[in-house]
Amino acid sequence: MLKLRMKLKLNDGVQAKCKKHPKYNPEKEGSNIKGGCSTCLQLWDLYRSKLELERAVRIFQRNAAPWIKYRAPRVKRGSAAAPAPELEVQELTP
Ligand SMILES: [Zn+2]
Repeated sequence: MLKLRMKLKLNDGVQAKCKKHPKYNPEKEGSNIKGGCSTCLQLWDLYRSKLELERAVRIFQRNAAPWIKYRAPRVKRGSAAAPAPELEVQELTP
């Protein structure tokens, strides 16, 4: 049986600009890189990789939805589960 447990948590930001081409924006210009600049190419590669990862996660979640298991949040020991709140029913008198 194949078991895959993967923790996917990206909470990192990157702020970078090419010194030669400070107006280059990989979101808008894509692979249209002036003069084959290596810095712009690295920015493009990073942006493209981000898009591919997001796409792969979406596809996996869609395909694996029937059998994927999400971990339930941990419950602390010793703290008894709080009783379910009771519903209070009031009769309305006309
Ligand atoms: Zn550049």
